[in-house]
Amino acid sequence: MENFSKTIIITGASRGIGKAMAKEFAFNGYNVLMNYNHSCNEAKMLFDYLKERGCSVELFRADVSIKSEVEAMIEHCIKVFNKIDILINNAGIAQTKLFTDITEEEWDNMININLKGVYHCTQSVLKYMLAEKYGKIINISSVWGIVGASCEVHYSASKAAVIGFTKALAKELGPSNIQVNCIAPGMIDTDMMASYSGHEIESLKNDTPLQKLGKPIDIANCALFLSSDASNFITGQVISPNGGFVI
Ligand code: NAP
Repeated sequence: MENFSKTIIITGASRGIGKAMAKEFAFNGYNVLMNYNHSCNEAKMLFDYLKERGCSVELFRADVSIKSEVEAMIEHCIKVFNKIDILINNAGIAQTKLFTDITEEEWDNMININLKGVYHCTQSVLKYMLAEKYGKIINISSVWGIVGASCEVHYSASKAAVIGFTKALAKELGPSNIQVNCIAPGMIDTDMMASYSGHEIESLKNDTPLQKLGKPIDIANCALFLSSDASNFITGQVISPNGGFVI
């Protein structure tokens, strides 16, 4: 239980990968601040479920694309848990659309949540991490940020930017003993896959050497490793749990 008293903020913890991470970290003894935006019922159910099982969890609604809401969330975390050791920038949206049909509003929305949200949350936690000279920041990108997806240009661009963000910030923060790493998942079975047809899912499985979609827990396990002392010499890296989809 090396991390018993460590505090972690997970953005987008109401559903999918973020929810699996919240459960995994809470059951492993972390203090978990779970962020959500629209899915109030799902978030409250998860909160109650974890509280009833004796976990140290807190819930906070904030849209990561809005700086003032993010700042209020970080202040709340400090008020409740007194510190922030780990941040997981997981909140994100996806959209499948021909590039020529993407409106400026859709482009801005994608970048504001998937990239600017990472900037807001990271900058807001850093004043506390820098004072402690300790911190671990984990950004959730995607395999599409590495290889690009047709009809997901804005999504792929936002996720590629998160990789660049990770590498640059890792260099800047290394001397302050703050690690910045990235997880770039392959196809994971969550609501985000809902826009894919059954046929498309089958074909994605066939293109994956392990012949299956990943589960949210696969990403949570990776995040747990990157948050633990076992990862203390790893920074600026992109780890891609993808079943061999991208090698
Ligand atoms: P998901 O099931 O659709 O869940 C998305 C989560 O992000 C929800 O909890 C949602 O909260 C939150 N969110 C969205 N916009 C937000 C905002 N503006 N402010 C705060 N929270 C916001 O998606 P997922 O599959 O778990 O994806 C999680 C992350 O993994 C994303 O960054 C995604 O790009 C990445 N990823 C997923 C896959 C995959 O195959 N599933 C693959 C590669 C990468 P509310 O519902 O409360 O608004």
